[in-house]
Amino acid sequence: AGVFDPYSVKRDFPILQQQVHGKPLIWLDNAATTQKPLSVIDRLSHFYEYENSNIHRAAHALAARSTDAYEAAREKTRRFLKAPSVKGVIFVRGATEAINLVAQAWGRRNVGEGDEIVISWLEHHANIVPWQQLCAEKGARLRVAPVDDCGQIILEEYEKLLNPRTRIVALTQVSNALGTVTPVHELTAMAHRHGARVLIDGAQSVSHLPVDVQSIDCDFFVFSGHKVFGPTGIGVVYGKQEVLEHMPPWQGGGNMIADVTFEKTIYQGAPERFEAGTGNIADAVGLGAALDYVEAIGMEVIARYEHDLLVYAMEKMRTVPGLRFIGTAKEKASVLSFVLDGHETQDVGKALDREGIAVRAGHHCAQPILRRFGLEATVRPSLAFYNTCEDVDALVAALLRLQAGYGGRQRA
Ligand code: PMP
Repeated sequence: AGVFDPYSVKRDFPILQQQVHGKPLIWLDNAATTQKPLSVIDRLSHFYEYENSNIHRAAHALAARSTDAYEAAREKTRRFLKAPSVKGVIFVRGATEAINLVAQAWGRRNVGEGDEIVISWLEHHANIVPWQQLCAEKGARLRVAPVDDCGQIILEEYEKLLNPRTRIVALTQVSNALGTVTPVHELTAMAHRHGARVLIDGAQSVSHLPVDVQSIDCDFFVFSGHKVFGPTGIGVVYGKQEVLEHMPPWQGGGNMIADVTFEKTIYQGAPERFEAGTGNIADAVGLGAALDYVEAIGMEVIARYEHDLLVYAMEKMRTVPGLRFIGTAKEKASVLSFVLDGHETQDVGKALDREGIAVRAGHHCAQPILRRFGLEATVRPSLAFYNTCEDVDALVAALLRLQAGYGGRQRA
């Protein structure tokens, strides 16, 4: 691969070329959502200008074009995840819908009274609430693997939770609140030794690390398009063939059937069985364009650059008096959660916004893990491959000014 140039990447993102409050926009809220390169925006326009049609049904030119574009996006997603077959790639609305689909379609059939579901303290609410609901419905028990003071899952404690009653383990690959990268290969192998299925929440990993679902050997892997430079409203469930084959449909309607009479409906196989109704065709196509964009650079190249930038950012941010990082795992990606002595997190967020720097300040939809550290909120800058050392320098300069009480009039 060639030399990675974040400045050239940044130029591909039109939204990053603007000023906010009279300052150049510095987007450090990538864990909430990522920006879109021009190639994705153009691909969406092209779809609506030349290809828009419902898929699979009508026998006309545009139906063929939109069907081809949609199925090409499925193949790009398969390649991105290194899945063995497009049959294991289901399009949904996002990671939240993906987890709900698995919890309901797979969970209702396979989880019963007295069974157990294992998650970790790191999970986003999207990987807690659907399992809690399933447990309440079925009389099953939700068990939670604890983390250490750095924000890493304690493997021995996790292993103690696994037993023959464990039906499924649902774990994040990267924590959205702390940035911890979890050892998904090891965690999955441990769960499989106890006969449990494994779902990996890749919402925060896919834009930062190369993912290979066959090498992880997980049964399900989910992510959202909008966190990997694609559109909102599109996401993915990858499922192992042998698991999807025995999984009942989730929603009923058009597209997912082979034959309907009033007496009986015969369903399609995967993935159609899980895609009832008209899907988000254009945004699936847009996701395909986003995956093309990152793969042209290479996820290994992106991961290496971001790792160096993260190390640089942590070193620089440590020079800010009274700044305390929350989440100091050895393996981390993107996320730089912190609290600042003498300042409310909301006020830090607002002060940074006045300088054109966008970060999240709040609970990040992961209240349990923040409470594990005795907090209700943190300030959370989060990096992507279009961020530069200058972006980090501007953040640190703004934080230093805030600590010095200047209120931040200019950018250093
Ligand atoms: N899991 C994790 C780890 C996340 O960070 C998010 C989004 N913040 C989700 C799940 C849910 O994704 P979405 O809101 O796109 O459905």
